[in-house]
Amino acid sequence: MVRTTKPKNKQMKEITSKFEKVLQASTSYGKVNHEPDSSKEVQRNTPKKSMPFSDQIGNYQRNKGIPPKSFENSKVYIVGSGIGGMATAYYFIRDGHIPAANITFLEQLHIEGGSLDGAGNPTDGYIIRGGREMDMTYENLWDMFQDIPALEMPAPYSVLDEYRLINDNDSNYSKARLIHNRGEVKDFSTFGLSKKDQLAIIKLLLKKKEDLDDLTIEDYFSTSFLESNFWMFWRTMFAFENWHSLLELKLYMHRFLHAIDGLNDLSSLVFPKYNQYDTFVTPLRKFLQSKGVKIEFHTLLKDLDMHSNTEGKWVEGLIIERKGTAAKIPIGKEDYVIVTTGSMTEDTFYGDNKTAPIITLDNSTSGQSSGWKLWKNLAAKSPVFGKPEKFCSNIEKSSWESVTLTCKPSALVEKLKEYSVNDPYSGKTVTGGIISITDSNWLMSFTCNRQPHFPNQPDDVLVIWVYSLFMDKEGNYIKKTMPQCTGDEVLTELCYHMGIIDQLDNVLENTLVRTAFMPYITSMFMPRAKGDRPRVVPEGCKNLGLIGQFVETNNDVVFTMESSVRTARIAVYKLLNLNKQVPDINPLQYDIRHLLKAAKTLNDDKPFLGEGLLRKVLKGTYFEHILPGKEETEEEHESFLAEQVNKFKDWFKNIRS
Ligand SMILES: Cc1cc2nc3c(=O)[nH]c(=O)nc-3n(C[C@H](O)[C@H](O)[C@H](O)COP(=O)(O)OP(=O)(O)OC[C@H]3O[C@@H](n4cnc5c(N)ncnc54)[C@H](O)[C@@H]3O)c2cc1C
Repeated sequence: MVRTTKPKNKQMKEITSKFEKVLQASTSYGKVNHEPDSSKEVQRNTPKKSMPFSDQIGNYQRNKGIPPKSFENSKVYIVGSGIGGMATAYYFIRDGHIPAANITFLEQLHIEGGSLDGAGNPTDGYIIRGGREMDMTYENLWDMFQDIPALEMPAPYSVLDEYRLINDNDSNYSKARLIHNRGEVKDFSTFGLSKKDQLAIIKLLLKKKEDLDDLTIEDYFSTSFLESNFWMFWRTMFAFENWHSLLELKLYMHRFLHAIDGLNDLSSLVFPKYNQYDTFVTPLRKFLQSKGVKIEFHTLLKDLDMHSNTEGKWVEGLIIERKGTAAKIPIGKEDYVIVTTGSMTEDTFYGDNKTAPIITLDNSTSGQSSGWKLWKNLAAKSPVFGKPEKFCSNIEKSSWESVTLTCKPSALVEKLKEYSVNDPYSGKTVTGGIISITDSNWLMSFTCNRQPHFPNQPDDVLVIWVYSLFMDKEGNYIKKTMPQCTGDEVLTELCYHMGIIDQLDNVLENTLVRTAFMPYITSMFMPRAKGDRPRVVPEGCKNLGLIGQFVETNNDVVFTMESSVRTARIAVYKLLNLNKQVPDINPLQYDIRHLLKAAKTLNDDKPFLGEGLLRKVLKGTYFEHILPGKEETEEEHESFLAEQVNKFKDWFKNIRS
């Protein structure tokens, strides 16, 4: 018997046929705002409202958005196999119902994962260019990983299940967030912000985003702020420099407002079990390949053949180099192209124990590698593609170096134990995030995450990650800048700051060092203005989406895995015009409990302005618990009340002025 299958578009119609009357009268169907903006929305229920609020997260958003038509015959080319590219494939399959076999990755490298790396072995040394501090509110990332089969657990468990199994049973915190004076733990219990600096933070939160174009952090904040413990915690944790974008800092403050009380001891963080390649990239790649997605390695996209007509801008061809041979891939009107533009890890220069990275790049030659070149080629076609040169042209301001230590037992490991919350060999949290050396000229930090950090790591080996923020200063012990140093010299500088320089030979003998100088590692934090980054689907584009760290989202931050996944999801929903939204960032920034807690935390847990009054009003009510910390004594309250009312008035006057 010959089985006939119905054309897919007909099938689609049948799916919704029982709903025709509703759909024909609908003002939402086919017109969903895929990228709603919570910073512009007045959240009200009105007779015409049918969609959730812009940042409403949760199960109601787990609907399957019915595609407007079938994309069965569409081919999809995804350029770049980082987490952004891989997430794009996932959402094309899950929500667009595009057959996985129609999806092809074009990846210039020999390996997938992009910036999410993790390689090496105990003999040559392991290497991770970065570690991954993560947050429970990575809504898009967890949305995806709840469906990706776990690396080490059997079906039906997912990467999210595996992640939670680890983190639910092993909380993260630090007992030595700061050190100084050659190895001494420094008090890290307070932020040390003056009232003026606290007010400056509040004023920044109140500012409109559009008023912050091209401003830097040091343009706005005082020296006392830049010298505070708060800024030491913040800039070392998120890798901000004083010359970076004030707008991005503001977005970070909103995005991670709920985490502020865990800033000093890092108790707000969660971490993967292994390095990010093994934890995330491997299971995701296996999942995609099991569905039929193809990955073409050694394939570089050089340019897009684009044409405009009255309907919009169309990609009609991909100009590529496959294993060194030029070729062109034709793109039809039903096909889609998704491109990762820009890169934080391109042009990485590597070194080892005996060699410093040989850096053959300066501002006159920067921005020529594939991701940047491609973005520049696009930008030359239309202003809707942004201004890549704003991000890749100042490598003194966008670079830093990281170092991976592969350590056999030594004096370094013994010293590390003093800073660790658990035995480094126990499999549990070790340092609980970075330890920053406050009197290091390079502003060096180091961390030992849960071990083993690689599945094949021998029991007696630890992997430690080190990085510094200042690339132009000589070390305190080694009179060279960090990029001029061999791995052994960087290790020497670290031993000096850990107070174990007298045992240096023992440490050098037992430690393999691999260094990685990244010219663009904080390029996405460079000061920017509206229009410098393109939208995910740039104006007029019909079959092209841009993803990754250099595209505009409404309120999300950059330098996270989450934001790359968000851009991927937006690209898919917009291009396919799915009846489904990507909710804006988690709304905790508007939660009064977190706002009050932030006010108190910024004031080093002393009562914030107006707290006494609020406590009085809420005492004995259902809402009493929204106030953070303990209640003061009755006497303190009475005297405090009058003082607070006056302070509140002054504060209000100040804000208004
Ligand atoms: C040192 C470091 C520390 C970090 N710390 C954290 C952290 O603590 N928490 C957190 O959430 N995130 C962190 N991140 C950020 C996070 O890893 C990145 O945001 C994310 O991995 C970027 O993914 P992506 O897919 O957007 O881009 P990438 O990973 O850069 O991938 C881009 C891919 O595209 C390919 N490509 C580019 N151009 C072309 C072309 N023309 N043709 C073919 N292929 C091309 C590249 O080879 C690459 O594989 C860190 C990153 C680094 C490097």
